[in-house]
Amino acid sequence: MALPAALLAAVERHSCFTGCYRSESEVQVCIDPAQALVPTVPVCCSDCLNFHPAALVSLLPLGMTSYALANALTAHVRALRGYKWATGGYHTAGTGFWLNAAYYGNGLFLVDAARNRNARTDVDMLIEAFQHGIVQPEDPRMLDPALYTTELAYINMSRPILPVRSKQDLLASPQRSATPRQGFSRVSIVEFQPLAAAGVVAGAQPPKPAPPPRELKLGDTCPTCGAAVMERPLFSGTFVGCLC
Ligand SMILES: [Zn+2]
Ligand SMILES: [Zn+2]
Ligand SMILES: [Zn+2]
Repeated sequence: MALPAALLAAVERHSCFTGCYRSESEVQVCIDPAQALVPTVPVCCSDCLNFHPAALVSLLPLGMTSYALANALTAHVRALRGYKWATGGYHTAGTGFWLNAAYYGNGLFLVDAARNRNARTDVDMLIEAFQHGIVQPEDPRMLDPALYTTELAYINMSRPILPVRSKQDLLASPQRSATPRQGFSRVSIVEFQPLAAAGVVAGAQPPKPAPPPRELKLGDTCPTCGAAVMERPLFSGTFVGCLC
């Protein structure tokens, strides 16, 4: 049994960037004044903690818990937005910290840890998440804060930004603003330079097409058939060329 289309559409359109959901306790809802309450399975957006979509138990696969629904919605949005991984909300590891982060690959991250209200940067908190195994660094050098650049942005993910191959794709999107805007959330666009630079080099050099055949002139020798390029007779008239 698939998840209800309207529920998927609602999480796809929610503007928070990670698309991570966490479980909540079952809610009993009155949908008919003459009938008993019906059970629903709610989940909560891990980024803002203010968005609580829910579905009637009867519309979900049999026995689906809020935990399973949260995981399924998280996976759905992560795939839609092209993230290799995403994490959101409060993490109890270490002394505990808030971190919303998503990884596109090629050293490109979206990170927001502002909810901690401490002096540590978004990159510091991303590295903290690596150190506690909350998410896995793609490269062992990702534990070095000196290898990152970061740019503050405001992003609205109510539609996916696709494709994102580099930071430039994010900067070029109308869903990214350099200044605060209604419906846009604060995020740092973080680049791990060793991989970002490698990605740009790889992107700038698409596989080379075979070199175009050199234009042969009168008097040249054709490298393919070995014949001289000269004026040759046709059934009617002549042409300038070799024998292939
Ligand atoms: Zn909640
Ligand atoms: Zn949210
Ligand atoms: Zn030839």
